[in-house]
Amino acid sequence: MADDTRADSIKAGPIKTDPIGADQIRNYAFAPHAIPSVAIDGSDARFPVHRIYCIGRNYAEHAREMGSAVDRTNPIFFCKPADAVVADGARIPYPPGTADLHHEVEMVVALHSGGSNIAAGDALKHVFGYAVGLDLTRRDLQAKAKEKGNPWDTAKAFDRSAPVSALRSTRKMGNPLRGKLELEVNGQLRQQGDISDMIFGVPQIIQALSKLFELTAGDLIFTGTPSGVAALARGDWFKARLEGIAELHGAIV
Ligand code: MN
Repeated sequence: MADDTRADSIKAGPIKTDPIGADQIRNYAFAPHAIPSVAIDGSDARFPVHRIYCIGRNYAEHAREMGSAVDRTNPIFFCKPADAVVADGARIPYPPGTADLHHEVEMVVALHSGGSNIAAGDALKHVFGYAVGLDLTRRDLQAKAKEKGNPWDTAKAFDRSAPVSALRSTRKMGNPLRGKLELEVNGQLRQQGDISDMIFGVPQIIQALSKLFELTAGDLIFTGTPSGVAALARGDWFKARLEGIAELHGAIV
């Protein structure tokens, strides 16, 4: 066998990382979908969403209510598709395939830049702003997936599973270290926590995620939910609030 066929002698070209500009392509087989986006508080510009990352079990009381151990060493991540975002004020159809749709109120971090292997000390300079969102969850499917060791996609990554408020730019409020995170359903308080109680803070989440994925402008990160997760039913309306930063309203129909 010739030497140059050995795997270690194959000369790989540079990894192509530049995204292909959609405006350079005019012969798609069909019209491409619109780029999902989120409103920006006080601006006509919108934040184009690239990916949605989520961290699980990031508040000790919530890990306990789910019957999980509190792990301060190994964050667990999952993703939602970018087009799962839902705008503030939306009426969200009750999703199919579940009889136990749950709310998880979370602070959402939006990035305007990224990279790989980002140090915690450098992480916040990549943050564009903050929002409040719901990590809607088909809890019954998640329980089955956990029991069988199956993936969480059908429990977490379904259509319209990520309502997100308008983003508040860090230029207006810096990077919050504390602040109440609350959810009311039909006017009753369901979840109440404080972002200072997160097990992994925003710099640590960005650091850990960037070891696994190349983060980039347009990425959203759901930072985990405090305790009090519970069911949403058809006809419920919700109000989520991240103190001093954002509010999100919506209804399940
Ligand atoms: Mn969550």
